[in-house]
Amino acid sequence: MSAVTPTSWGRYPTARPRQIQSCRDVQALALPDETLSRLPFGNGRSYGDVCLNNNGVLLLTRRLDRFIAFDPATGVLRAEAGILLAEILALIVPQGWFLPVTPGTQFVTLGGAIANDVHGKNHHVAGSFGCHVRAFELLRSDGNHLLCTPEQNTEWFQATVGGLGLTGLITWVEIQLQRIANPWIVAENRRFASLDEFLALDVEYEARYPYIMSWIDCATGLGRGIYMAGMHAPPGLLKSPPPQRRGLTVPFIPPISLVNSLSVAAFNRLYYHLPRPARGLIPYQPFFYPLDNLREWNRLYGRQGFFQYQCVIPPANAHAALWEILARIVVSGQGSMLAVLKRFGDKTSGGLLSFPRPGVTLALDFPNRGQSTLDLLERLDEVTRQAGGAVYPAKDARMSGDSFRHYYPQWVEFSRFIDPRFSSSFWRRVMEH
Ligand SMILES: Cc1cc2nc3c(=O)[nH]c(=O)nc-3n(C[C@H](O)[C@H](O)[C@H](O)COP(=O)(O)OP(=O)(O)OC[C@H]3O[C@@H](n4cnc5c(N)ncnc54)[C@H](O)[C@@H]3O)c2cc1C
Repeated sequence: MSAVTPTSWGRYPTARPRQIQSCRDVQALALPDETLSRLPFGNGRSYGDVCLNNNGVLLLTRRLDRFIAFDPATGVLRAEAGILLAEILALIVPQGWFLPVTPGTQFVTLGGAIANDVHGKNHHVAGSFGCHVRAFELLRSDGNHLLCTPEQNTEWFQATVGGLGLTGLITWVEIQLQRIANPWIVAENRRFASLDEFLALDVEYEARYPYIMSWIDCATGLGRGIYMAGMHAPPGLLKSPPPQRRGLTVPFIPPISLVNSLSVAAFNRLYYHLPRPARGLIPYQPFFYPLDNLREWNRLYGRQGFFQYQCVIPPANAHAALWEILARIVVSGQGSMLAVLKRFGDKTSGGLLSFPRPGVTLALDFPNRGQSTLDLLERLDEVTRQAGGAVYPAKDARMSGDSFRHYYPQWVEFSRFIDPRFSSSFWRRVMEH
């Protein structure tokens, strides 16, 4: 039993599990036989309540952190599900391998990466994380251990990839890594003045670069931002290991959010005009994980926490819907500091409930100002729904059940695979309201 109650990254909502159980040994693992619902908890890097289980049992997976097998000739890696992507990178990068897909933080577990079928900057070429999973073991509450691969127990595989931890506990995972010749990244930065310019740059860069994403200024509503593209450097260029970063930590949670209208406006202006090289070589960590250098940065949002809003809009409606979303944010006066824009490609995600689908995805952070923030997010949902888009459960703490069921009509089919003893605060919210 752990003394600290786990929270999600947005620190909203709060949830009190009745029991917290740490999973240690895969061989000896048996799920507790009692009536409370269970939910695996990886490293709590989901923003809302997909990793929370109010009044239930949380199964902490971080102690399932052993490597099981790694073949440096083929790049096939098998490890327990609680291992962090950061721990995997430390092993594989010096041996010329990299994760096939990585989210914007390396502090997520393998199990969490599968359960949300996470995406990275290379979705247009690589699809989502689930596309690179060769196998995993699923422990059900009836004691059954299911070996799931794209060919074996296929339905369970598809339900568990993006399955929000509800189909059972993933104990170990086997993934296919990608070969790299160099741990450094050749990166390009371009300023764009409007959404139209962003869309034009996208066409140009998508064909040339495997990693692309943009930061967009949400304070002005101009649709301006910075386009960032990168690729693993070729063998000839600098090959020494990238320097270890010594990060800072936000030491405490201030009573009120340090992210407010003034700081958001100042940050956006500064970030847009900051001089940056048009092209250069940078270590992979600041390229993929710029926020990981400031540990516990979520504390900056104060005791009330914050919301993420990440939606995807189909290509045909993206332009109009994104303008409308930016306009609604500006009218609300609640600009976002960390607004990220990216295009998803056509590669189908392996999961029944996976979020990624063709279109443009926008991720936004808003300090929790109570009802006014909830109202704004509801207004953004109106746009997303009308445009035929969807909201990402991993980042969500408030969408209505009606919206969820509209975005994910596959939930009906998915429900057949939910372990009868598993549940989450998220699932109860979107099923009951
Ligand atoms: C700074 C930052 C940047 C991010 N960038 C991205 C991004 O670019 N793309 C993206 O897709 N996401 C992104 N995320 C979200 C994050 O990648 C996902 O929420 C991820 O799932 C978190 O993994 P975790 O190990 O912390 O799992 P948790 O948040 O603890 O849990 C997530 C889900 O996984 C389930 N789960 C965990 N372990 C297991 C297991 N062993 N078996 C079964 N189910 C399990 C939980 O029940 C829960 O439903 C980002 C988050 C942060 C904080």
